[in-house]
Amino acid sequence: MLNRAVDVTVRTGFGDLPWIGADELLRLVDMNEAITVVDEAMRVLSAGSVAAPERWAMPVADHGRMGLMPGAAPSLSRFGVKVLGLFDADARGALPSHQGVMLLFDLADGRPLCAVDGAALTTLRTAAASAVASRALARPGARTLAIIGCGDQAPLHLEALRAVFPIREVTLWNRTAKKADAFARRYLSGLAWRVCSTPAQAAAGADIVCTLTAATDPILSGKDFQPGQHVNLVGSSTVGPREVDDAFVAKVRYIVDSREHALSQAAEFVHAVGDGIVSQDHLVGEIGDVLTGAVAGRTRPDDITAYKSLGHIIQDLAVADAAFRKIAGPARNGRSNAR
Ligand code: NDP
Repeated sequence: MLNRAVDVTVRTGFGDLPWIGADELLRLVDMNEAITVVDEAMRVLSAGSVAAPERWAMPVADHGRMGLMPGAAPSLSRFGVKVLGLFDADARGALPSHQGVMLLFDLADGRPLCAVDGAALTTLRTAAASAVASRALARPGARTLAIIGCGDQAPLHLEALRAVFPIREVTLWNRTAKKADAFARRYLSGLAWRVCSTPAQAAAGADIVCTLTAATDPILSGKDFQPGQHVNLVGSSTVGPREVDDAFVAKVRYIVDSREHALSQAAEFVHAVGDGIVSQDHLVGEIGDVLTGAVAGRTRPDDITAYKSLGHIIQDLAVADAAFRKIAGPARNGRSNAR
């Protein structure tokens, strides 16, 4: 019990903790900057200076889970946690697939610095990561893009890939076809586009393919891909649901965001290893090591490369920090917020 005779002063900064909402985040950090900071973040991750346990999730209802992603990045002098509600589409209706909040802290003194909209942060950093990986792994001058899955992730993936490649043609597939049509009408004016009736038709011939679905069983197989393509595997972030089959894993140069996390959570890779189709040595390396040149990404024009995007808290820390630096006020207590 608190001894009232002792002079206890508890200081908190929560009264003025800034909130960076979805619109403000996207205004503060444009796609080019997101790509720049995520590129750097992936290098830092592979250099081994980021502390981040595997993401954690627990069921909180029959139709939803709570997800937790903590981490610390000394290079940014930041730590933080993203807390998400991950609810079934039927339960959340028109709300985003990833609802929540990122809390960003100062690694120097433990101060909470700001709270950031978790939905916008997740879509922005995930799309930026796909652009970073594609820039490193796809063939130069890629002009055709396949978007497989036209949900929340799709618009910023389109923007991100267009930021790094001169995309001229987009092929689309969505389980509910009318959503692919609506996406095309809203986002693809000025580009050639085609809504396809199967994922394989959309992927065929595209220089870059992004799989952005909540599919539980493979919707694409190794036979659906041709030499030279690059694929961003984004839709499955945990062991269980797979967008691609064992044959796909066996056929590609398989590059990941985090080797440690991928070995336990990259569903299609864990499945292919479990089936004896590939060994763990088939995992080529991390994108951060490809970016620094420590690991070879694409070795030949006819390689098929794949980037496994599980998503990593370093990406959230990097983008949240970039936003916070823009709003950080003048020095408080003789110290600048934005060191
Ligand atoms: P949305 O809920 O907005 O979209 C889900 C998409 O998946 C829709 O296109 C939906 O089609 C489709 N889909 C759902 N079930 C199936 C199925 N059984 N077969 C084929 N398609 C299906 O989610 P998001 O766009 O936000 O996210 C897409 C996926 O990416 C999710 O699985 C999510 O967990 C994952 N994700 C990964 C991240 C990462 O860092 N790697 C970050 C954020 C999300 P329809 O329109 O017909 O319902």
